Amino acid sequence: MIQLYDTYEGRKREFKPVERGVVRMYTCGPTVYDYAHIGNFRAYIFEDLLRRFLERSAYRVIQVMNITDVDDKTITGAAKEGVSLRDYTDKYVQAFFEDLKTLNIEPAEHYPRATDYIPDMLKLVRALKDKGFTYETEGSVYFRVASFPKYGALSKKKLEFNISGARVDNDEYEKEQWVDFVLWKKKKEGEPSWPSEFGDGRPGWHIECSAMSTKLLGETLDIHTGGEDNIFPHHENEIAQSEAASGRKFVNYWLHCRFLLVEGEKMAKSKGNFFTLRDLVKDGWDPMAVRYLLISHNYRQPLNFTKEGLKQAENTLKRFDDLASRIMSYKPEGVKDKLAASCKACREKWERALADDLNIAEALAALFDWMNEANAVLDRTDVSTAGIKAAKEFLRDIDSVLGLKIYDEIEPSEEIIDKINERTKARSAKDFAKSDCLRKEILEAGWALKDGSPGEPSLYKRRKRKWDEL
Ligand SMILES: [Zn+2]
Repeated sequence: MIQLYDTYEGRKREFKPVERGVVRMYTCGPTVYDYAHIGNFRAYIFEDLLRRFLERSAYRVIQVMNITDVDDKTITGAAKEGVSLRDYTDKYVQAFFEDLKTLNIEPAEHYPRATDYIPDMLKLVRALKDKGFTYETEGSVYFRVASFPKYGALSKKKLEFNISGARVDNDEYEKEQWVDFVLWKKKKEGEPSWPSEFGDGRPGWHIECSAMSTKLLGETLDIHTGGEDNIFPHHENEIAQSEAASGRKFVNYWLHCRFLLVEGEKMAKSKGNFFTLRDLVKDGWDPMAVRYLLISHNYRQPLNFTKEGLKQAENTLKRFDDLASRIMSYKPEGVKDKLAASCKACREKWERALADDLNIAEALAALFDWMNEANAVLDRTDVSTAGIKAAKEFLRDIDSVLGLKIYDEIEPSEEIIDKINERTKARSAKDFAKSDCLRKEILEAGWALKDGSPGEPSLYKRRKRKWDEL
């Protein structure tokens, strides 16, 4: 049983997806006006851990991460460089994908770009208008928050409304209440715009997540993630738009990761503690150490990112590597040892900790104990073939979740190939209990299956995804 902490209900709950065995997950993605910084990557790494653990638990994950390629920052950036919005943002979209690959983050199934979904956003604005949730002022369309009584349920905010209904000025746009938000922004001279029945304009930021998640995943999502700074107003607004339009629950589990500090302080360009991933790699840090530092802290705790922490992360990686190469090159001669049993015991602790709202700190503590045990066993020379095999499988299994490239192997063994063939047979015979069981065994060995439709399932090593297709 997997328990996840749901921000909406403010407690841990047993995870149950809408469709058996499938997880529909939406994660708020980057605004592509600059390179992503490590604060951004804390959220993406947490989502990667979640995704990998769900896959490891035999779920098929369908993840959508949006790319915001139209907003004030991207428009200003493009104008400054004198290039089109598309050309300007393309560069940062590509850089973002490269960074994800550098950090060995598994790709999502979909990376929709906001500007490719304008008709879907307009459709949603229209639906909200038809149901009476909007008002229009000077060519812009707003969501009237007072018309959605559940507003504030996610962020636990009690909102004070301006009772008189007098219009409030918000820099450039007129709104009835400060908390109302724009769905469609009237075109400004010299800015990119799209035609619509409301007049030429561009979408507000919040509407893109509601429109694209519905289009790609349906009206109700299993999991929606983001950083804690997304809770209000962004996610609150997403709920209002989606639920007002569909009349259904938008998200079953809201997961948010806490903020990141650098050397104990809030990251700021003026303080000189602002790092992109590229800065750290240029300084010679191993990207896997960055990954380890970001992944090794529980996601609901603030994380203090320090150079000292990076050094420790590199040392930890070295311990993993040393043990892995010891195991890989070991020539077993013994007949009986404790290695297989200790792998099994640690695997159980590992699974239990991660199933408890991704308690990675506890999972890693169990792993370090096991590493000491394994090294002690290997110091004696009576290790059996079965023990070494169990240790190899265990390392591969662990790394399918951590993604630290501890253990690399290109070809699946014959045993795995046999299991795949057996599973294909079970599936065509509609023996789903057996096929699920085999799928789990294959996953535990560090391999994942993607079922094509129709035809043969394709096998891939979980950390070797096809990035070139993006
Ligand atoms: Zn979003």
